[in-house]
Amino acid sequence: MPVFRVPSWIQLLFPQSYWRGDAKSKIVHLTFDDGPHSSVTPWVLQQLDAFDFKAHFFVVGQNAEKHPELIARILELGHGLGNHTHTHRNGWKTALSPYLEDVRQCQAQLPQGKLWFRPPYGKIRPAQSRQLRAKGYRIAMWDVLSMDFDPSRSSQQLLQKLKSLTRPGSVIVFHDSLKAEPQLKAILPSYLQWLAACGYQSRPLPSEP
Ligand SMILES: [Zn+2]
Repeated sequence: MPVFRVPSWIQLLFPQSYWRGDAKSKIVHLTFDDGPHSSVTPWVLQQLDAFDFKAHFFVVGQNAEKHPELIARILELGHGLGNHTHTHRNGWKTALSPYLEDVRQCQAQLPQGKLWFRPPYGKIRPAQSRQLRAKGYRIAMWDVLSMDFDPSRSSQQLLQKLKSLTRPGSVIVFHDSLKAEPQLKAILPSYLQWLAACGYQSRPLPSEP
């Protein structure tokens, strides 16, 4: 059962992962997983642009392969890009070597640079995490999950929950996918407006940890 915030004792078990940015700043890190998608991603980029917010996009390699123009656009606008495996693999159900191969295939679609990786479903085994970190990847988890993929909850409830959990340094997960589109379109514009009104800025995950 997904939760809006991972309990701090779990975060402490994985101190090598990135859960939250600078807790003393008015900066949050908006992140968008599972894209790029032909219509949802451009819509997200437009929303972010209206506030000059910069985000981090954790793309699925096979989607990146279909939309190289969106990968270029994301970078051109000053957002960050991260690896989310080539085929959205569940690490708990995948052996080490096919998992690493899937990550490698996704990375082949991305420009060189800082290697940020987010495991799909947040599910990664210690050996997978260790191997990826040895290859130079930084594992990005999150501080707040928007639950935009859940159509059974009311958008108003999701928005309230998001606002109440957002804090300095929060890494916040949304999805630029077809599945999340209805909730995303219902909550993102108001949420961005609220962030700006509170004096928050959004930046990509840092290029230097
Ligand atoms: Zn995902």
